[in-house]
Amino acid sequence: AMRHLPYFCRGEVVKGFGRGSKELGIPTANFSEQVVESFPSDISTGIYYGWACVGNGDVHKMVLSIGWNPFYKNFKKSVETHIIHTFKEDFYGEILSIVIIGYIRPEKNFDSLEALISAIQEDIEEAKRQLDLPEHLKLKEDNFFHLPEGKIVSNH
Ligand code: ADP
Ligand code: MG
Repeated sequence: AMRHLPYFCRGEVVKGFGRGSKELGIPTANFSEQVVESFPSDISTGIYYGWACVGNGDVHKMVLSIGWNPFYKNFKKSVETHIIHTFKEDFYGEILSIVIIGYIRPEKNFDSLEALISAIQEDIEEAKRQLDLPEHLKLKEDNFFHLPEGKIVSNH
C-alpha cells in the first residue's frame, strides 16, 4: 500500500453517486474518473490520511478512501476525500489538491450504520495523530500547495 506514497494529486471536485456521506456528517469530495484513472493501477483500496486544499485555500488534514465504484459495477475505483474542516459552502467544480501520506486500513463492510460511523471517527482520530508527527507536518508546507500567484483557480 505504501509503495506509491507520498502521492500528490490535483483535480476537479465532481458530483458523487449519492451514498449519503453528507447525511452521515462525513461529506467526501469525489475526483473525476480521469483523475482516478491517472492513479497507479495497483494502489491498494482502503483508507488513507494526508493533507488537502481547496482552490488556493488553507491546507487541512484529510482522510481519503480509495474504493470500488458501485456506479461502474465495482469495475473502476473511486477516490473520495473527507477534509477535516467545516466549510461554509459546498465546493463542487473547484480544484482539490491532495497529498496522500499514509495507509490506515483496508476497506471493510459494516453490520450497521453506527459501526461504519464509529470506524470513520476512529480513522479521523488516527489521521489527526499521524499528521501531527513532524515528518508528516512538513508536507503541509510543500510547494505543491502554493499555486502560482495571479492564476485564477476558483471563482471566490
Ligand atoms: P457526493 O456524493 O456528491 O460526493 P457527498 O455527500 O459526499 O456528496 O458530499 C460531498 C461534497 O460536500 C463535496 O463535493 C463538497 O462540495 C462538500 N463538502 C463540504 N464540506 C466538505 C468536507 N469537509 N470534506 C469534503 N467535502 C465537503
Ligand atoms: Mg462524496
